[in-house]
Amino acid sequence: MSDITLHRARTVLPVAAPPIADGAVAVRDGRIVAIGAHDALTAELGDAIGERREWDGALTPGLVNAHTHLQYTDMAAVGRGQYPSFETWALAFEKGYRVEHDWAASAAEGVRLSIESGTTAVAEIVTDPEAGRAVHDAGLHGVVFWEVFGWKRAAWQHDGPERVLAQLDALPSPPATGLSPHAIYSLDTDVFRELQRLAEAHGVRLHIHAAESASEDEFARFGTGPLAERWRGLGHSDMQLLSGNGSGNGVVHYLDTVGVLTPHSHLAHGIYVDAADRALLRERGVSVALCPRSNAVIGLDAPPIAAYLTEGNPIGVGTDSLSSSPSLRVLDDVAELHRLARAQGYSADDLHSRLLHAATAGGARALGLADGPAPAGTLIEGARADLAVFATASADPRDALAEIVESAPEALGTVVDGRMLWEAGSVGRGPSTGSGSAFEGARA
Ligand SMILES: [Zn+2]
Repeated sequence: MSDITLHRARTVLPVAAPPIADGAVAVRDGRIVAIGAHDALTAELGDAIGERREWDGALTPGLVNAHTHLQYTDMAAVGRGQYPSFETWALAFEKGYRVEHDWAASAAEGVRLSIESGTTAVAEIVTDPEAGRAVHDAGLHGVVFWEVFGWKRAAWQHDGPERVLAQLDALPSPPATGLSPHAIYSLDTDVFRELQRLAEAHGVRLHIHAAESASEDEFARFGTGPLAERWRGLGHSDMQLLSGNGSGNGVVHYLDTVGVLTPHSHLAHGIYVDAADRALLRERGVSVALCPRSNAVIGLDAPPIAAYLTEGNPIGVGTDSLSSSPSLRVLDDVAELHRLARAQGYSADDLHSRLLHAATAGGARALGLADGPAPAGTLIEGARADLAVFATASADPRDALAEIVESAPEALGTVVDGRMLWEAGSVGRGPSTGSGSAFEGARA
C-alpha cells in the first residue's frame, strides 16, 4: 500500500532531537510514522511512499500560539498604537471594542493569518459567541476558551454557573474547549474558586491573564493603585479584593490561594513575577505563555525570559491579539524573546533550540496537547502530523535553526493532521506528485 506521504526538507528540526540535514518526515493517517535522513527513509519505506513533497527550507513541528484572541483581528488599529500604561491601552481597547464588529469574520481572518504563518494550534480566547466557530471550522488544534469576566460574588451566586456553562457548551468542538477566567481584577475571589471547581467537574482547562501589569500586582496585594482606583470609581468597591484591602499576596500566590494553579491551567504574560513566584509555578506544573511584543505595545516591562529559562519554568509563546500586537506571527515573538534573553544576560548556546521548543512543544504542553498517544509540538514517531515549513536560506541545519529563531522567516506551508492546510504560492514546490489539495479547507 502506497499510503505514506513523505515530506523532504533541506533541514528538519524535530525539536525532540537534533536538527537533520536533508531530512524527511513520513506521514500516514495523520500521524508521523518515521523521521530521519531522507535517503535512509526512502530506502526503508520504498513502495509504501505514495506522495512526495520537497521543501526548500526548514520543516518544524507546527507552531503553537499559546495565547491569542483571534476575535480581535479587526482591531489592529488599536494594536498599532503605543501606550504609556496598561490603563491607557485598556481605554483605547474598550473604545475600539464598542463599535460594531463582525466577530465571526474577524476571528476567521485571524485563523487565516495564523495558518499562513505556520501555526497549527492555538490557545484562543473567545469573548463573543460569534467568534467561537473559526478555529473549529478551520480544523486547527488547540483549546478555545470561553472568557469569563465582570462577575462579582452576588451576581455569580444568582445565575453565574448556569450562564457560563451554557456559554461553554455553545462553543463548537473539536478542538477542546476551556474556561478563561480573565484576570484577578475582573472576577471576585469566590468566583475564581467556583470556576476552578466548574473546570474540574467538567474536565476542561483554565487559561488566565496573570502578572501582566504592575497595577494588577498592587491590586492583588493591597487593593490599591491605578486599576483599583478606576474600579472604585466605576462603583466596584464591593469587590472582595478591594473591600478587603487586597490579599497580601502578589498575583501568582493569590491565584494559588484560590486553587487555580494546576497542571490543567496555564497563564498568559507572567511579567511581574519574582523567583518565589516562578518556583511556585514550577511546583504546580503551570506553564506561562510569553507575549513580549504585546507587552511592549501596552508599555509594560519585558517578561523575565532569561530567568524563566535559567530556572527551568515551562513556557510557551503567544502573540496576544492584533489589538495589542503588530502581527499574529508566533516567530516574531520568538525573535523578540531571543533579543530579550540576550539583553537580560542569558548567554548559554542552547537559546535557539530552547526558544523553538517554547514555540512548539512548550506551547503544546501549556495546552495539554503534549501527552497521550499522539502528542503535538514535536516530530517523533506516533506524533500528530502537524507540520510547518519556513523559508530558511542556510544549508547548515544549525544556521537554519538560528534563522528561524532570530529572523522569523516566512512560512511556506502548513500541515495539520497530515493534511496540507495551506501552501505559499508556488515557492518551495519540488517535484511533488501533487494531490491538487494544497488549498483545500484553508480558506473556510
Ligand atoms: Zn490576552
